[in-house]
Amino acid sequence: MIDIDFANGTYVCPYCGHDQAFDRSHDEMNIGFHSGWNNSDIKKYGMEADYIIHWFKCSNKKCGKECVTSFNRLTGKQFDILPEATYKHYPDYIPIQIRQDYEEACIIIDKSPKAAATLYRRCLQGMIRDYWGIKKSRLVDEIDELQSKVTSAQWKAIDGLRKLGNIGAHMEKDVNIIIDIDKNEAQKLRKLVDLFMDKWYIARHDEELLLNEISDISDEKQKERKDN
Ligand SMILES: [Zn+2]
Repeated sequence: MIDIDFANGTYVCPYCGHDQAFDRSHDEMNIGFHSGWNNSDIKKYGMEADYIIHWFKCSNKKCGKECVTSFNRLTGKQFDILPEATYKHYPDYIPIQIRQDYEEACIIIDKSPKAAATLYRRCLQGMIRDYWGIKKSRLVDEIDELQSKVTSAQWKAIDGLRKLGNIGAHMEKDVNIIIDIDKNEAQKLRKLVDLFMDKWYIARHDEELLLNEISDISDEKQKERKDN
């Protein structure tokens, strides 16, 4: 779902992930429906169906994309219209196969948690293989080997998920087998994948950038000293 904070007039652009203020890049429209009521009925009972539609345009010049969402005013439920699915867009330095599995899973998670969970498991396996170089035939064995390599907090998250009924049981099966899982469990798998994208790939990349910056600064300082 597109993340909107009406109290502060902000939302998170579902394409580029940047926080946005509403201002002129936002518009809204109300639509209501009723079946054959006269005006006094509508006044008395309100609409049978009542929706508010919001339109936003991202002010980040590199993005500039628009998104549309609607709320059922009677139930408060949100339905995203554009884009249909909201997910994190991970950077190019994460292998494309892993990003594709992740994105496809996020697109279908509402409609088919089973298929999404299968893709998230494949994604997790891809990350363990690529990032840690661990290759075994079963995901459960790969996860076992991971214990000595990750922090205890990360291990606790994996182990917690392993103990969860269906996901835990199916970690032992081939990752390509479609498993029976509900939406809630599929979302937990998604969160685990998100956690490791951040803790492994993004943290490593940011650390490399910072270290390079520091070493560039120290090289410059040394050069200055020599020149003086
Ligand atoms: Zn954007």
